[in-house]
Amino acid sequence: MTPSAGVGSRALLRRLRQVMAEPGDGQQRLDKITRVIATNMVAEVCSIYLRRDARTLVLCATEGLNASAVHTVKLKLGEGLVGQIAARAEPLATDDAPNAPGFAYLPETGEEIYRSFAGVPIQRLGKILGVLVVQNRAPRVYDEEEIDVLEVVAMVIAEMAESGALAAGRDVDLARSGPFFARGVGAAEGAAVGPVHLHEPKVAIANPIVDDVESERARLRDAMAELRDEVDRLLDKDLLKGGGEHRDVLETYRMFAHDAGWLRRLDEAVASGVVAEVAVERVQSAARARLDRVADPYLRERLHDLDDLANRLLRRLTGATAAPPPKGAVLVGRSIGPGELLEVGERIAGVVMEEGSAGGHAAIVARALSIPLVVQAYGVVAEAENGDRIIVDGDEGAAHLRPEQGVVDAFAEKLAVAEEAQKVYASLRDLPAETRDGALLTLNMNAGLVSDVRHLAQSGAEGIGLYRTELMFMVRATMPGREAQAAIYRRILDMAGDKRVVFRTLDIGSDKILPYMKRVEEENPAMGWRAVRFGLDRPHLMKMQLQALLKGAGDRPLSVMFPFVTEWGEFEGARGLLLHERDRLAARGVPVPERVEIGAMLETPSMAFAPDAFFKLADFVSVGGNDLMQFFYAADRGNERVRRRYDPLGPAWLTFLEGIAARCEANGARLSFCGEAAGRPLETLALAALGYRDFSMRPAAIGPVKRLIRAADLAAARSIVARAVEDGESARGRLMRWARGSGLPV
Ligand code: PEP
Ligand code: MG
Repeated sequence: MTPSAGVGSRALLRRLRQVMAEPGDGQQRLDKITRVIATNMVAEVCSIYLRRDARTLVLCATEGLNASAVHTVKLKLGEGLVGQIAARAEPLATDDAPNAPGFAYLPETGEEIYRSFAGVPIQRLGKILGVLVVQNRAPRVYDEEEIDVLEVVAMVIAEMAESGALAAGRDVDLARSGPFFARGVGAAEGAAVGPVHLHEPKVAIANPIVDDVESERARLRDAMAELRDEVDRLLDKDLLKGGGEHRDVLETYRMFAHDAGWLRRLDEAVASGVVAEVAVERVQSAARARLDRVADPYLRERLHDLDDLANRLLRRLTGATAAPPPKGAVLVGRSIGPGELLEVGERIAGVVMEEGSAGGHAAIVARALSIPLVVQAYGVVAEAENGDRIIVDGDEGAAHLRPEQGVVDAFAEKLAVAEEAQKVYASLRDLPAETRDGALLTLNMNAGLVSDVRHLAQSGAEGIGLYRTELMFMVRATMPGREAQAAIYRRILDMAGDKRVVFRTLDIGSDKILPYMKRVEEENPAMGWRAVRFGLDRPHLMKMQLQALLKGAGDRPLSVMFPFVTEWGEFEGARGLLLHERDRLAARGVPVPERVEIGAMLETPSMAFAPDAFFKLADFVSVGGNDLMQFFYAADRGNERVRRRYDPLGPAWLTFLEGIAARCEANGARLSFCGEAAGRPLETLALAALGYRDFSMRPAAIGPVKRLIRAADLAAARSIVARAVEDGESARGRLMRWARGSGLPV
């Protein structure tokens, strides 16, 4: 902003304040505002377009255009120059509007005689509320200073609109009352409806125009000084802990907090006549607009950091604090970490995020807590207000904000059907997962948190086939020591009673990062230094966990499996460590399990071709379909673009899995399958057709899987799968047609 812009905008803002103080309704105020701006900016036309719904703008007030066009002229986002400004959230100026690219001719307005045009978005916290336009007949270019003035005025209009002072009556949806639909990606299944609780509370600004610029500048500087102290304190704390994953972020915060350019831009915005909060929002909006155009993920992260810092500053200025979500609320935010999710997990009904991925940690936690989660639902944060009704559909990957009654009804029906189904599943709980022709399957559940273990009884799972121990490490601020771990494992086994629990040793690396461990930068972390590779290279950590598992089990049987084994020597090494630790503890008189079952996860294609000795040595082999499939198809499981590209019922994959089953059978290794596919009824049936009998899945999947298994004839499924594979086709279509045709519950 140029220094003289401050003077220009201040005079205009003083006039706007008078308008606000005068009596009148929203429409009268809008009319006066356009008049004041036109006079002050020596423009023949000044118009305000406000949004009618998520996609349409309507002309709400004008000085200079035909009065009859007000409330009749509408533009779609992206349509005409005005629509382009709204769609791109950036100013646009031209000295030849009728010939500018995208110009839309609207005869009702009579605007064709005006050649010069300048418009700026009316926006607040990334949400477009409308567009402010000035026009002149003579061709001229509006200079930077004039655009600056318009932007400041537009911000003030946005604040007025938000506070309800411009309630423009018909046609306009500034109160965000209309429905908004966001298509995202389902990351934890299930559905819920509840009031929105914003992860970052939005700040309401009662009076956007500043009275005394100097004292406002001082207030801003004080808040900045406090913010710097806050960041320094966070960094000191982090250093004391030995520096963690957040260090990068904190360093960036510090850099921004001390950045002279940032402070200057904020200071200039205050000098233009707005209060410090509006100044922060203005600079933040500009940063967000840049963010939308940045493709580099690293830079995007840094700009997000700036955004977070601006939120902290806003909270300092207003004294607003984040309240915990009310019970039954749906948490809505840009990005919510697994730790935060755990903290509020008991209270909330669902989560919607603008970022995140279905393969990420937060998704794992949400699934563990049975909370529906939709990730990558863009635009929802700007649109949502605390208390708005929102439907989270984790099955469809959709969020319906302020849904229409029809959607609410359809949804209530869906929930009712789901509830009915739950009753059916409950009635099957104590029945075996046996096909009609007598093949008996074992359905176990996956777990990762102590609280999951309680699902053992209600789901009807026969045991825990995959206990992801790394989750409890991920959600803690510090590394749990040996005794603390032992106490947790003991508790899990106590809760499980006589049911088998298969503990998987730490699978860290890849996308699972421990906050308190130094992060190793890797180009391809999923194929990097992770899981048992890390465990064998840093045996201290692995030994500590193995000792804790042995101690936690005491004299009860213990089942342990090692993740991401790639060569059988790795399995031998890890197995050796476990047996060695057991002998050491026993020699010291510590009670240890007499029966230790040691298995390997088969998650890399190489292990399908391991020597027979491996299959003979392993007490059991558990196919980790998530990782195995990503490496089989070379398709990143965390990348939404390719994640679903290849069919888990494709012929090559099924042939491969059948080969693994045959090798286990030939060598007497107990075989199980614990990837996500195990929890999808049709996939489970196909796997059973290939010879798999033991599965581990989300607790909520046990009911639907058991229902299908009990209704199906395995011999029929086997011949369908075999024929599809022979013909080189996916088995999905054929199995589905057969199941539907036979009235099976799919
Ligand atoms: C798998 O890869 O299939 C698996 C069960 O492990 P995770 O999903 O934890 O990587
Ligand atoms: Mg895995």
